[in-house]
Amino acid sequence: MAKQKKKNQSKLAGPRVLLFDIETAPIIAHVWSLWENNVALNQIVSDWHVLSWSAKWLGDPPDKVMYMDQRNAKNIEDDKKLLQGIWDLLNEADVVITQNGKSFDTKKLNARFVLQGFQPPGSVKHIDTKIIAGKVFGFTSNKLEYMTDKLCTKYKKLKHKKFPGHEMWTQCLAGNLEAWKEMEIYNKYDVLSLEELYHILIPWDNSINFNLYHDEEDHVCKCGSTEFHKNGFYYTSSGKFQKHKCKQCGAEHRDKQNLFSKEKRASLKMGTPKS
Ligand SMILES: [Zn+2]
Repeated sequence: MAKQKKKNQSKLAGPRVLLFDIETAPIIAHVWSLWENNVALNQIVSDWHVLSWSAKWLGDPPDKVMYMDQRNAKNIEDDKKLLQGIWDLLNEADVVITQNGKSFDTKKLNARFVLQGFQPPGSVKHIDTKIIAGKVFGFTSNKLEYMTDKLCTKYKKLKHKKFPGHEMWTQCLAGNLEAWKEMEIYNKYDVLSLEELYHILIPWDNSINFNLYHDEEDHVCKCGSTEFHKNGFYYTSSGKFQKHKCKQCGAEHRDKQNLFSKEKRASLKMGTPKS
């Protein structure tokens, strides 16, 4: 029995959680004015593509951040090799964590994947910190820069000071190695600061039940802790459920067992009219 349990644990020891972020090249086009542009397809000189990506398995040490970019590509627009790297990681993951990745990073990657002849990677659950921020908090800004500045102490989203603003993209496209070095640090910091932010925000989010990915008999919190204390009850129209609070991160968990007796549940069949 013990052997069997150990075997199961090694099979399902928790989800593979991948944090990632991509940087893309701008569309370069002929334009006739600086504002109110309506660029026709035949005005495009070169289309956008992926310039770099950074990724990290949740909980790995900071020096294990993975990164690929187009600095040594023969043709900077051909991002196939780069895409293969992130495709393999996405295909391996059970859960991905991004900032704004639901509307940007994954869709941009999917567009490049299909244009470059890739099949879809395996399906994943997706936690997007920008969506958590919008749903739960009324922050001044839901941008990574604002949230990591206010909440994180170790890693905050970096500003690219050497090549400020759009200059970093222009210089990378021009093959400036110093700009590529700054892009690498900037992109890696996006992932490191995202991981720190995720740990702060996750007790507030219940979108994914991490417990499903464990074979352990103990209930496991999304923070990895198995220690909880009882914290009152949650009531529905026909039930009473024990609430538990994680001792480590404060996330709430609820028992599925209804504490009301059969008789009590029967008595609840008669409701009060809504006024
Ligand atoms: Zn926890």
